[in-house]
Amino acid sequence: MVAALWFALLLEQGRNRAAVERDAHNEAANLARAFEEHVVRIFHDVNAALLLLRQAWGEERSSFEQMVRIIQKADGEALLVQIAVIGADGLLAYSNLDPDAEPVDLSDREHFQVHRESKEDNLFISKPILGRVSGRYSIQVTRPLLNELGGFIGVLVISLSPDYFSRFFGSVDLGRSGSISLVGTDGVFRARGSDSRLDTDSIGTRVPPDRPFLQPDAPTSGMYEADSTIDGIRRFVSYRLLPGYSMVVAVTKAVEEVFAEHERRWLRYRLGAGLVSLLLLAGAGWLARSLQLQRRFKHQLLEQQRRLLYVNDSLRILNDIATQPDGELAARLHLALALGCRHLGVEFGIVSRVSGDRYRVECCFVPPTVALKAGDEFALARTYCSITLGARDLVTIEHMSHSEYAGHPCFEAFRLEAYFGIPIKVNGAVYGTLNFSSTQPHSRVFDSSDREFLRLLARWVGTVIAEERTHNELKTLATTDALTGAMNRGSFVTEAEQEIGRARRYQQPLSLLLLDLDYFKRVNDSYGHSAGDEVLKAVAEFSRETLRTNDRFARIGGEEFAALLPYTAAAEAMEVGERLRTRIAAAPVQTAEQRISVTISVGITELVDDDDFNTLYNRADAALYRAKHQGRNRVVGDPAAPSDLAPPGSEVLTTH
Ligand code: GH3
Ligand code: MG
Ligand code: MG
Repeated sequence: MVAALWFALLLEQGRNRAAVERDAHNEAANLARAFEEHVVRIFHDVNAALLLLRQAWGEERSSFEQMVRIIQKADGEALLVQIAVIGADGLLAYSNLDPDAEPVDLSDREHFQVHRESKEDNLFISKPILGRVSGRYSIQVTRPLLNELGGFIGVLVISLSPDYFSRFFGSVDLGRSGSISLVGTDGVFRARGSDSRLDTDSIGTRVPPDRPFLQPDAPTSGMYEADSTIDGIRRFVSYRLLPGYSMVVAVTKAVEEVFAEHERRWLRYRLGAGLVSLLLLAGAGWLARSLQLQRRFKHQLLEQQRRLLYVNDSLRILNDIATQPDGELAARLHLALALGCRHLGVEFGIVSRVSGDRYRVECCFVPPTVALKAGDEFALARTYCSITLGARDLVTIEHMSHSEYAGHPCFEAFRLEAYFGIPIKVNGAVYGTLNFSSTQPHSRVFDSSDREFLRLLARWVGTVIAEERTHNELKTLATTDALTGAMNRGSFVTEAEQEIGRARRYQQPLSLLLLDLDYFKRVNDSYGHSAGDEVLKAVAEFSRETLRTNDRFARIGGEEFAALLPYTAAAEAMEVGERLRTRIAAAPVQTAEQRISVTISVGITELVDDDDFNTLYNRADAALYRAKHQGRNRVVGDPAAPSDLAPPGSEVLTTH
C-alpha cells in the first residue's frame, strides 16, 4: 500500500510538474508574441517618422523643425530622447535638444559609420549608447541622408529611450526573477526588464554567443532553458526573432519560481503521504507482530498437543509393559529401558545397582555396536550416577560439555553429552539408578511431563524389582525348609513326580533314598533341642555336599530326609547311601558346647514300571524300617528290586 501510495504520488507529481512547465512555456511564448508586436509597432512608427523627417530635411528647415515639434508632441510616452542630424563630415548638424549647440564630432559613432560605408538606404538600430549631448542611454534609430544622385550627405537620427520599455515590463508579472529583453542579433542587450522595472546595468552587455537565437539557422521562435550570465539564475526562455529589424525579444521565467508553488504543494503532499505511510507501516508492524505472536502461540499449542500425545503414548506403552503377566524381570526392565530411550530420543538406557562404591549394570538397552552388558562393573565415582545419587533426585544434563560437569571422568571416558538419571528405590532403600544418556546433546525440550514420566518409570522399575524380590523370597519360603535350607516335603514331592515322569519317558533309572537319624530323641534329651537342630543342619549340609547337583535333597519329616537320584540305579544308589552313612558316622557334629556323634539309617529303592511317587516312597520307607529293625546305622535296599541290581546272595542288601 505504501509503495502504491508513493508510486501514485510521484506519478501525479511528474504529471503536474509537466503541466506547470507547459503552462509556463505557453505564458512566456504568449508574452513574447505580445512584446514582439509592441516592439515592431514602435520601430515601424519610428521608421515612418524618419522617412517623413528626411523628406522635410531635404525641403525646408522650418518645416523640418515643425515636424520635429509635432513628433515631440505626439510622443506622449517619453519614448523620444533626441532627433538629430549628422552631417557628411560627422559633425552634429542639428539636435532638437539644443538647436544652437556646438557641433559635436560624431563621426566615430557606429550608426554614422554604418551609413557612410553602406551607401544603401537602410534602417539601422544601434546598440544603446550614452549620449554625449543627452547624457542618457539611448538607442539610435537611423537612416542615411542622400542627395538626388544617391550620394551620402549625412545621417538622420531618432534616439529612443530604453526606459520606454519599462512600462511594458511594468504591465506584466513574470515573477521576481522573470525578465523581458530586447536583444540585437549582434547579441547586445538593447533593453532588459526584470521585476517590473528596467535593468539599466545589463544595457549594452552581451548575451553568450551560444544562445539558440544567435545561431545562423535559428528558427524564428523557440524555447530553451539556460543559466543567466547576469545573475546566474536558471530560466526558461521564449524568444522571437523580429523580421526586418535584426532584433530578438526574449521572455524569461525563473525555473525555481515556475515550480515554487508546485514544489510547496508537493512538499505538503509528501508530508501527508509520509504521515500516512508511517501510520500504515505502524499498522502493518502491529499486524505482523500480532500475526507472529498468533503463529507462535499456535505453534506452541500444536507442540504441546504433540508432546501430550507423545507422553500419552509413552504412558500407554508403560502400562502395557506393566500389565504383562509374569514376564522375566530382565525382559521387563529391557522393555522399560527401550521405552525410556524412545521417549527421550537417546541411545543408552541402564538400570544400575549400586553397592558401596561399585556400580553394576543390571540391565541395559544400548546400540548393538556398544559392548556393554549386564554384570559390567564400574567405580561409582566414574559414572554420572554418582551425581544422581548425590542429588537423591532426578538429574538432567542436556549438554554435558556446556554444563558444570564438563570435566567429569565419565565425560572424559565416554563423551556422553546428554544424561538423565534418577535413583531407584526398592522398599524405601536406594537400589541404584535408572539412567539414560546420549553422545549427542539433547535437542528436544525436557519439560515437566518428561520429568514426571521418568519418575514414574523409576518408581515402576523399583516396584518391579521389589516384586521380584518378594516373589523369590516367597518361593524360597514355600519350597525350602527353614531350619536346614533343604527342600521341603511339598516341593520335593512335586519335583519327584516330574523326575519320575521324565525317567519313565526316557527309560532312565531313578532311585529314592530315605534317611532317618538314629535315636535322635536321645540327642535332644541329652544335649537339648537347639543342639538337636544344629545336628539336623549339619547332617543336611553333609548330605548336600555328598550328593550331585542333579540330585534332589529334602527334609520330609522331623529328623527324616529324602534324596532323589535321577539316572541312578539301585546299586549306585546303595553306594551313595553308604557314602552318606559313613561320612555322617565318621564326623561328629561340632556344636557350641560339644561334639555329637550321630548315625543314620537309609532305605533305598529304585523306580520300577507302574511306580508312582507313593509306591516308590512306601518301598523306600519299608527298606528304612528294615534298616532300623536290623539295628540302625545301615543302608538297606529294596527286596522287591530286580535281582540284578542287588548284590548276589543277599535278598536284602544291608551295610553297616
Ligand atoms: P529311631 O532310631 O527309632 O529313629 O529313634 P528316634 O529317637 O530317632 O525316633 P523317634 O521317632 O522316637 O524320635 C524322633 C525325635 O526327633 C522326636 C523329636 O523330639 C525329634 N525331633 C523331631 N523334629 C525335631 C526338630 O526339628 N528338632 C529337634 N531338635 N528335634 C526334633
Ligand atoms: Mg524318625
Ligand atoms: Mg529317628
